[in-house]
Amino acid sequence: MILNTEAVVLHTRRFSETSLIVTCFTRDRGKLTVLARGAFRPKSKYASVLQPMGYLRLIFYWKEGRDLQTLSAAETIQRFPRLASSLERMTAGLTILELVNACLHDDGAHPQLFNNLVAALHGLDQPDVQESTVTLWFMARLANELGYTLRSDECGVCDEPVSVREQNIPYSIAMGAPLCAEHTGAASYRPLLTQSWALLREVLAVQPEGLNSITASTAAATELYDAISAFIKFHVEGMKRLRVSPVAGKILAGNTITNTE
Ligand SMILES: [Zn+2]
Repeated sequence: MILNTEAVVLHTRRFSETSLIVTCFTRDRGKLTVLARGAFRPKSKYASVLQPMGYLRLIFYWKEGRDLQTLSAAETIQRFPRLASSLERMTAGLTILELVNACLHDDGAHPQLFNNLVAALHGLDQPDVQESTVTLWFMARLANELGYTLRSDECGVCDEPVSVREQNIPYSIAMGAPLCAEHTGAASYRPLLTQSWALLREVLAVQPEGLNSITASTAAATELYDAISAFIKFHVEGMKRLRVSPVAGKILAGNTITNTE
């Protein structure tokens, strides 16, 4: 069967002298791996197109139960030039791809998550959007798609609205919810700065078109990135092998990295 679907390239690796293996997230079939024969031949139409973060239309021969599908054609749907020209934005984009790659296992379709991924890449291509807010926004939606919903306003134990305290809000990573004054003893928690908690509220509520309305401080972005990462790691097995998060966390929080180990 010939399949024609939108896709975002998550990862590529060389397969042979001339061929490329491409892991992609497709709108219609979810995550899958395709073989691009001849991608490294001179004049190959694939070479410039099959890059991580590429938003493409793919045509390939689909065979049920086969690990590797054979690519027949690929063309770019939309380019993200601003995303490709900044280290911070590239890091955010690659972090998002790593998250999708690590968290999705089967080839089941996740059309809403696909839309969110494209929206995140588009967001990272906008001049007035902070990369940290795009990353946090996407992470919260990825968790939600996998069945783990982050909450900001109601206590994880009693569902009553939590009250804003002066310094911080006790937040249960396991529950993905804050704890009210009565239930701080009911579960382990980490104290979130009120500004991090306010950022979480904004990130959970905003539509992708509104991401430019959020301004995150370094402290809030860093703390929330750590908290949402911990939440996803707590629930999603594949996250344990995520490679980019520590460095990405620093870059996304706006810190320049001077030493890489
Ligand atoms: Zn409570």
